Amino acid sequence: KSAAELTAEYLETGTLEGLPNGHFIDGAFSRPVHNRSMESLDPGSAKAFASFTAGTEADVDDAVSSARKAFDTSWRDVLPVERARILLRASQLILENIDRLAIVECLDSGKPLNEAMGDVRGAARTFEYYAGACDKLQGDSFPLGPDYLGYSIHEPVGVTAHIIPWNFPISTAARGFAPALAAGCAVVAKPAEQTPFTALMLAEVLSQAGLPHGLCNVLTGTGQEVGAPLTRHTGVDHITFTGSVLTGSTVMKTAADDITRVVLELGGKSPVVVMKDCDKDKTVAGVLGAIYEHAGQICSAGSRLIIDKAIHDEFLEKLVAKTKALSLGHGLRDPNVGPVNSAQHLDKINGFLDRAKARGLNIVAGGNVTVDPETGAGWFFEPTIVDGVDQADELAQEEVFGPVLTVQVADDADHAVALANDCQYGLVAGIFTRDFSAAHQMARQIDAGQIYINEYFAGGVEVPFGGNKKSGFGREKGIEGLKSYCKTKSVAAKIS
Ligand code: NAD
Repeated sequence: KSAAELTAEYLETGTLEGLPNGHFIDGAFSRPVHNRSMESLDPGSAKAFASFTAGTEADVDDAVSSARKAFDTSWRDVLPVERARILLRASQLILENIDRLAIVECLDSGKPLNEAMGDVRGAARTFEYYAGACDKLQGDSFPLGPDYLGYSIHEPVGVTAHIIPWNFPISTAARGFAPALAAGCAVVAKPAEQTPFTALMLAEVLSQAGLPHGLCNVLTGTGQEVGAPLTRHTGVDHITFTGSVLTGSTVMKTAADDITRVVLELGGKSPVVVMKDCDKDKTVAGVLGAIYEHAGQICSAGSRLIIDKAIHDEFLEKLVAKTKALSLGHGLRDPNVGPVNSAQHLDKINGFLDRAKARGLNIVAGGNVTVDPETGAGWFFEPTIVDGVDQADELAQEEVFGPVLTVQVADDADHAVALANDCQYGLVAGIFTRDFSAAHQMARQIDAGQIYINEYFAGGVEVPFGGNKKSGFGREKGIEGLKSYCKTKSVAAKIS
């Protein structure tokens, strides 16, 4: 069915036919050991639209042993080019199913449909990229002289666990599954309980593409009942965790018990530095996209505007006018800004603004809870700008994870860098200027995992992604992302 047909079906029935039912274990949808379910809520209407399986530790055991068996028997020694063909077919099947995947992502996460379409296209591209990398995982040789031979090979780490947050369900699943499978590993994943469906659908697509049974398993349920048992399971060799700092810290401690490898992709409070010589109109558009895409619920959202004092008034006037003109609505209607993911999350965002109002901060746009103007329903927060925020203020230091931009003034480039770096996070940073030398100097000085110059969110799967400081460690995407799922083995032999 097309996106329009699926939208009509949803608007008429309040649900969608054919949503995944059960965990995906050993190449098929399976019933949980204990038959319990949870509801999935549509953030745009605040209504339940489907239910899904609430797993337990017994399901984790099933999935990990299925992955272990598949890894040991059918995958690690498959020719790399054969792995590549399967991943490429998966990429094509994702695109063939783009309408259904995007509509489900839109309903589960709340994000506008065109953003969900972009995420699905990105997932297909991720599989295409890693398909191309399967047969290029080359080792090195070492110069030990005529009497020795030294070389290294990259071996798959084994069974990999993937814990996925609710803001980018299919993208996060794809950027973990594709390199893990390309490297020859097996996957056991747990999507967030708010957004369970597209990871399950991705596992089904991989199976249709010819992936042997047991290599990609997806379990749904809560962090406590499925995520925690998965991360402490002794059959798991590697954990890729994407989520909050608090849970990431728990996962890291658990991983330490069994010396399990871990990649942590955590939160952010990313600065966007705007210098006086920037192209103002393009920069306004860049700043808007950086904070209001997916209603600011992006780990790498540009949530701290640091602006050259020479252009503060003029720039802010333009930015506020554009912000106030943004449309809000249900994701299926493709507004500029969709809802936030849950009632609890809306309360958390509103708490930041309530406290900001109590401190007398200067809110120059938005600042309030609202609803879908068409239906009067859903969990929405107005696109918000708070000017003149002090560097020590919680709004400049803590991740709000909502459509809230703070504004700070910088005297010059050095001051801008100092403000950018004075934060516990170090995920990304944006720089807008026409002075390329200054931009690249700042790129060296800002402590972040990636820097965007003159286009926020620039780059794709080719570019490594990950954080510094409390934003985590390890990198996904790019060839570095592939190496995360490999163990280097070196061999040295006396040959004379
Ligand atoms: P969260 O930490 O609450 O949950 C993330 C995942 O962990 C969910 O699947 C959850 O069920 C699971 N989980 C919860 N408790 C667990 C436990 N004890 N053991 C194992 N798993 C457990 O985070 P969230 O609220 O879903 O996501 C938002 C956060 O994720 C934000 O801080 C955001 O910045 C971050 N994030 C980071 C990136 C990145 O790439 N750096 C990307 C997206 C989101």
